[in-house]
Amino acid sequence: MQFADIPGLTDLKEQLIGAFKKGKVAHAQLFSGISGTATFPMALAYASYLMCQNRNDQDSCGSCTNCTRIQKSIHPDVHWYFPKISASDSGKYEKVLAEALPLWRTFIAESPYGSFDDWALSYGQENKNLQISREDSRQILKNVSMRSVEGGYKIIFIWGVEFMHPSGANALLKVLEEPPEKTIYLMVTFGYDSLLQTITSRSQLINVPPNQMEEIRDHLIEKNINEQQAMQLAKISQGRIGVGLRLLQSEDEMAYHQFRDWMLACWNRDLTSLVRGSEDFSKSGKANQRGFLTYSMSLIRNSLLKFAGSQPTIINEEEDTFIGKYTEKLGFEKLQFMYKLINQALLHLERNSNPRITHLNLSLAIVKRINS
Ligand SMILES: [Zn+2]
Repeated sequence: MQFADIPGLTDLKEQLIGAFKKGKVAHAQLFSGISGTATFPMALAYASYLMCQNRNDQDSCGSCTNCTRIQKSIHPDVHWYFPKISASDSGKYEKVLAEALPLWRTFIAESPYGSFDDWALSYGQENKNLQISREDSRQILKNVSMRSVEGGYKIIFIWGVEFMHPSGANALLKVLEEPPEKTIYLMVTFGYDSLLQTITSRSQLINVPPNQMEEIRDHLIEKNINEQQAMQLAKISQGRIGVGLRLLQSEDEMAYHQFRDWMLACWNRDLTSLVRGSEDFSKSGKANQRGFLTYSMSLIRNSLLKFAGSQPTIINEEEDTFIGKYTEKLGFEKLQFMYKLINQALLHLERNSNPRITHLNLSLAIVKRINS
């Protein structure tokens, strides 16, 4: 994560970089914002900036050893603490940690804007009481007392500091007040009001505000979303970019399932499903009809790219597997033909053709071509 990956919030980025340039990096910093905002990405971009071996005036380089290791959350001097299921003793703690850490790494790589609930879901523990335990605090104290492995900054990342056990928070009091040199606490909270004073009074508050609607819209457009849809998602997300990204992901998942079922029905010449599919399509509204056909074209385009030996811009693994399968079955020419057919259907819709008939004709033309 670099500052450049986060839309807008220029003043805050300048403030953070400015503190570094003046040699005034506060040793305990509390990044606070509402869930879904760039609160954690900002702290992560800052950590990369502090550790980068090749930073410039605006950002970390994103490619040196330190930047790469922070991206994968495997830097030996960056220590992670986050809510987990509780462990009754230190022996069990090791086990809990060993199980949680790989999931945590995936979560922050894939959903840096994610909320606490998103984490609980990724962790598979959504009904458990998750916390940063007393044992975590003991580990923090142990970490703090040791030298940094590589001689530079040592960063103690505490994500979801509002989930810290009160007695654990009290145990940290002394190290928050008198940290060893070059030890930096980057704490992230989505619930400032519920934090213990132990924490708030001893750390510098970094308020991370929501993004402007236009910033979220442009960020989504950069991810190849059409302007109309990007604007709609940006409005719903109310400054919380993570909400916009999650909505986008669930729309993609829905579109993928719709596309997969459609292709299977074509493949199996399942006319009942195809007729029903055309009726659903006609009821889904103009924007969704266009969105779905555009999405279908982008998946087929990715398959065509595979033939050309180029790297497709695949969004998820499921799509990748499916593309792999039907690319092999259909071959280049049939796929190219389907691409043209869908494109034509899209043009017909724009000229106000009947959506149900357009979709059904398209389905039948695809059935004919792929089974020829
Ligand atoms: Zn770097």
